[in-house]
Order: sequence, then structure tokens, then C-alpha cells
Amino acid sequence: MARIVQKFGGTSVANVERIRAVALRVKAEVDAGNQVAVVPSAMAGETNRLVELVTSVSKLYDAREYDTIVSTGEQVTVGLLALALQDIGIQARSWLGWQIPIHTNGVHGKARIESIDIEEIEKRLERGEVLVVPGFQGLGPDNRITTLGRGGSDTSAVALAAALKADRCDIYTDVDGVYTTDPRITPKARKLDKITYEEMLEMASVGAKVLQTRSVELAMKHGVRVQVLSSYTDEPGTLVVDEDEIVEQELVSGIAYSRDEAKITLVSVPDQPGIAAAIFGPLADNGINVDMIVQNISHDNNATDLTFTLPMADLERAIATLEGKRGELNFADIRADKNVAKISVIGVGMRSHAGVAQRMFTTLAEKGINIQVISTSEIKVSVLIAEEYTELAVRALHTAYGLDAD
Ligand code: ASP
Ligand code: MG
Repeated sequence: MARIVQKFGGTSVANVERIRAVALRVKAEVDAGNQVAVVPSAMAGETNRLVELVTSVSKLYDAREYDTIVSTGEQVTVGLLALALQDIGIQARSWLGWQIPIHTNGVHGKARIESIDIEEIEKRLERGEVLVVPGFQGLGPDNRITTLGRGGSDTSAVALAAALKADRCDIYTDVDGVYTTDPRITPKARKLDKITYEEMLEMASVGAKVLQTRSVELAMKHGVRVQVLSSYTDEPGTLVVDEDEIVEQELVSGIAYSRDEAKITLVSVPDQPGIAAAIFGPLADNGINVDMIVQNISHDNNATDLTFTLPMADLERAIATLEGKRGELNFADIRADKNVAKISVIGVGMRSHAGVAQRMFTTLAEKGINIQVISTSEIKVSVLIAEEYTELAVRALHTAYGLDAD
């Protein structure tokens, strides 16, 4: 007997028919004698619809009310799934984030799970009851509903798996695993049998939308075995595991891209101690996560340009925040560019091999693609380019690193 958490994404619960199919997958695990907790997302498109409702009423919305609204998508699917399970003779009950509770911090809209009270739900599991737990939502210290950021149901599932010490966390989605790159961009993309937590973390954080970044961090921290698999087939998916479980490691495991980036340049900021802190402090206080940063050395020793990237969705708020500090920051101009994409090559093999970045730069140069910003980590190189070259860059790099399927 095993204890399993099954997570189903929006397309897997997109309508009543799909929800019934999910119920059958849950039943299969129950019939095999396993204890099951199931975590659905909202129906496909529903969270977008709710977000649009929010922004149609208020552009600079209050994040508490945003959470009140966008968390409702999952309330519907847990109820429906519990009913569908009962309908096929499975003892099942829904548990909303506040009922368990799933405690989070108070960062509304992007909350982090801090702890989960498992006492009651574990008793139920042991009695053979299926737990139906909504993804994406929790309870903040202010006693209000919080949400975990877009794609947060993955994190809910992994956190629940960690708290319940589950044997596995199966993430059912509309793709059948993790690919070397997006198969919609190149048909030569290959499905990986296994990928390391670290690579998956980098992939997720740079735009591969299979798993939410935070969920991978949590899985790595708690050693949760995560499997990404399709809810349409019975094929095994991709296992996310420790590095030592992978015998033959490729130099580069994947190419990721993100079009959800925007670039801000502050023109002519004073080149003096404390200026970066004065810029990025207020952004951080507003929950805006800055990614790549370049600051040049000033020519005349007193002013320099500072460029950074951030999620497109945060652009308006970032500009408003910086404009509010204009007096203090003393920049000459603020320029925003949405027409950018970030392309990343990822692989733990990079740690022990030189020349990976060089191959990326050469490949892009051969295609005439200009690099605007570069950033690196131990196992990743990312560049910012003009958005229209996204596909070309991804395909060329996929070939250059020998990732193409035969
Ligand atoms: N429904 C939420 C979203 O669309 C959470 C999730 O699906 O993971 O972001
Ligand atoms: Mg998702």
C-alpha cells in the first residue's frame, strides 16, 4: 500500500466529462489499495477569466480581494470531483485551503505555504477516504484566503505530498512529460525519462510551464518523488529525481524560453552607493520579482543606465512604483520594452564542461540574433533577445547542443 498525491491540471478537469475521467484514475489507485489525496486545478481558462474580471474592475487591485475571487475556480472543481467520486462509489470529501488549513504567509497573490495541519486529514486518509484538496489556495495569517501565484496547484500538491510523506506525487497534465524543449516549437523535441530537481527548477523558473518553480523547490527540499505525466494516456511520464539517480548525464538537458518578460531601462541614474538598493528595494516591497540585471560602468563617473527584466504582468506596477520614486532616484527617463524573450540552455553537465555559453553565443550570432542581456547560473545560461526570434533561436540551439530526435 502506498500513499499517493495526484494532481490534475486545468485541461484535465476542463469539463464534467473530463472530471469523470479523473475520478476513474483516482479510483484505479484506490482499487490498488492506495491512500489517495487528489489536487485539482480550476477548469481550463477559468482562472484567466477570473483575473480578467478583477482587472476589469480595478487595474491596481487590492491583492486580498484578488485572492477572494481567483481562488473560487478550485472551489468548484473540488466539489465536482468529490461528487464524481461519490457517484462511482468512492468515499470522498473536499477540503478547502482554510478548512485544513493550509497555512501560508501573507503575500496575497503570491503566497508561500508555511505549514499544513495534517492531523484530521491523515486520519481520514487512513480510514480510506479520498481527500479532494483544491490547488492554488491557502489561509493567510490575516485569516483570509490566499493564492499561491499562477500555476500554484503544483505547489499545493507537492506541499501536501511532503506533509503527508507521500510515496509519490503524480502531476497529470496535458503533456506526457518534460521535453528537451517545447514540442510546439520543434517537432524534434524529445521526452526525457528523468530530469534532476535542479534542472527542472531552472527549466521552470525560465519559462517551461510544466511545473511551477516553487513546487520543484519544495520537491527538492523534501525529496518528494514527482512524476509528470499525461491524463490522456497510460504511458509513464518524466520522473523528477536526485542527480545520482541519473546514470548518463547529457551536457545540456533542455532549452527553455519565456515570452512573458518585459525589460525596463532607467536612463541616467546616479552612479553612487545605494542606488541599486533604492531601485530594487521598493520593487521587492511591492512583490515584484526582478530577474536579469545589467548595470554599466558610467563613462563620466556620475551617471549610468540600468536595465533589468521582470514578468510582463508586473510591468505597470513596476513603472508606477519607480515613477513614484522619481524624485529620489533622479533618473532621466524610464523605458519599457515588452518585445523581448528570454532563451535559456540548461544542464547540470555544464558544471564540469567549458564552452557551453560560447556555443550559445556563436549559434545565435550565426542566425543574426542580437543578444541584449546575458545572465548565468552554475547550470544555466540565459539571454534576452527580440521576441520575434524566439522560435528561430530555440530551434537553432536545440540542434547545436545535439538534442534533436533522430
Ligand atoms: N488555477 C490556477 C492557475 O491557473 C492554479 C493552477 O492551475 O495551477 O494559475
Ligand atoms: Mg500548471
